[in-house]
Amino acid sequence: MTDKKGKDGGCGMVKNSVSVLGYAKINLHLDVTGRLEGGYHSVATVMQTISLHDEISVMRSDREGLTLECNVAGIPTDGKNLAVRAAELFCQQVRVRPNAHIVIDKRIPMAAGLAGGSADAAATLLAMNLVYGEPLSIDDLLTLAARLGADVPFCLLGGTAYGEGRGDLLQPLTAMPDCYIAVACGGEGVSTPWAYGLLDRVYDDFLEKSSYRPVPTDALKLALKNGDLSAIASSIYNIFESPVLAERPVAKRVRKQMMEGGAMGAMMSGSGPSVFGIFGDEDDARTTVRRLQEEGIFASVCRPIARKW
Ligand code: ATP
Repeated sequence: MTDKKGKDGGCGMVKNSVSVLGYAKINLHLDVTGRLEGGYHSVATVMQTISLHDEISVMRSDREGLTLECNVAGIPTDGKNLAVRAAELFCQQVRVRPNAHIVIDKRIPMAAGLAGGSADAAATLLAMNLVYGEPLSIDDLLTLAARLGADVPFCLLGGTAYGEGRGDLLQPLTAMPDCYIAVACGGEGVSTPWAYGLLDRVYDDFLEKSSYRPVPTDALKLALKNGDLSAIASSIYNIFESPVLAERPVAKRVRKQMMEGGAMGAMMSGSGPSVFGIFGDEDDARTTVRRLQEEGIFASVCRPIARKW
């Protein structure tokens, strides 16, 4: 987090410009456990923050309103952008007139299952709070985060956590041991509603007639507690992986390449199509990523990031 002090900057209370990193997440476990009221799917998930990040800068501006610019075309710059929605919600909550300019330096691939939009929303909440003199506590920010989207509270907390409900009822877990996580996304694109539609067809809409039984997370939680990377890598699970990879040949091949490159385990993240591989050996991770990049596929070597608060 960096900040540039304003004219009154010596006191550090109000800053004119703040930059915050918004980190991507992967799902070490992602399962559907049934249906909630209102039709949402209930999930059980273990999420992990990784070092791949966007950078969000918030500047107080002389003009009233919220504006946004982003280095990547195709990202909405109006109220559809989760960062703008986060800034609007913050201003409503603290009853200030919005007068801020948001700049997103985007590196997390979009609609990839890495929670890029949620990461931007969480980072914007933090940056707005700093720019406006820290009127809200982390608990207040978490309440706002839950209103913005199911993944936003986790993006605000970071680290390693188990999530239930829509993924927003969080329980921190023992931090993942340090390792190399290769993340790759072949640009095939997956919309989350489409991916849930695939699952609903396979598993009878997860209604009572469904014979699907969720996969327990005990082995993964124990592996995390023991700091046992090889046991973690062999306990990862994603209910979306099999049906989505059947429809996304590049992602399926990327997963195979991760394993052939020496990953201890590889899996799709979220509803895809990003795939991650867990490596104990840095050279193997870097070689695998370089080969994927040579094919024109977005790929990056990341590390797990621990909880912020
Ligand atoms: P999740 O893992 O939470 O499902 P995702 O990684 O699959 O998220 P995002 O990158 O968050 O997907 O983008 C999903 C959609 O959200 C995109 O279609 C995009 O138009 C919209 N969106 C809104 N704000 C942002 C943002 N700041 N960055 C990226 N996408 C955004």
